[in-house]
Amino acid sequence: MLVSATEMLKKAKAGHYAVGQFNINNLEWTKSILLTAQELNSPVILGVSEGAGKYMCGYKTVVGMVNGMLEELNITVPVALHLDHGSYEGAKKCIEAGFSSIMFDGSHYPIEENIEKTKELVATCNKLGLSLEAEVGAIGGEEDGVVGMGECADPDECKRVADLGVDMLAAGIGNIHGKYPANWKGLSFETLDSIQKLTGQMPLVLHGGTGIPEDMIKKAISLGVAKINVNTECQLSFADATRKYIEAGKDLEGKGFDPRKLLAPGAEAIKATVKEKMELFGSVGKAND
Ligand SMILES: [Zn+2]
Repeated sequence: MLVSATEMLKKAKAGHYAVGQFNINNLEWTKSILLTAQELNSPVILGVSEGAGKYMCGYKTVVGMVNGMLEELNITVPVALHLDHGSYEGAKKCIEAGFSSIMFDGSHYPIEENIEKTKELVATCNKLGLSLEAEVGAIGGEEDGVVGMGECADPDECKRVADLGVDMLAAGIGNIHGKYPANWKGLSFETLDSIQKLTGQMPLVLHGGTGIPEDMIKKAISLGVAKINVNTECQLSFADATRKYIEAGKDLEGKGFDPRKLLAPGAEAIKATVKEKMELFGSVGKAND
């Protein structure tokens, strides 16, 4: 059964580790992530962007697929199904479809409007037992076609949004979606520290987890980050393994063209990436804590 992310993130914040959010794109992605979480006894959050939701034929299809897998694969670790960077309308659709967790990204609205809309969704999610993530300060890079520059959130605005009763807060601290450019300045720990000082026990979310050096990840966790989003890295490892299979001519040998064979190296590569991240984030073995 899907659970909200509230409990797992409270435990992560208190235990000084982070739960990974791994974005899904199809059946192989979902299966690889769920099997790895179960094998490592780790809580996990499956992220679905609006674009990926559309690609997978809508939120109801996603909910059906994930619920089916939880049952058929005997997944017993805590799993949350989370809308990633949801619009106001997308959030409502996912709530209706059966998601257990929602991100409302109102960071592109003026702060007062972000607060107004977030407040309304807090009320809805509370009533239904879903967790809600809010965002303050746009995160750089590309979010479904929208390119931002990677700003640092205003800690006072973070405090105002945290006080609305959200369950987790994403704040820009110089992080970027996708691959990091060579001239990237790194995370602003000063900003993160001021945000945590004002927001206390609120689990903080680090978006754009791909390519952030390990020592920075560990430092971010020590400063209150309890959820880290990983998307691009699984895409890169899937593409790399699939390319190698085809370049080696394996699809031309025997029944190597069978999608169950063709997609297998990519699926294994996703598992390896998820395992590596769960070990780095410290969530391994934490499912039953
Ligand atoms: Zn993000």
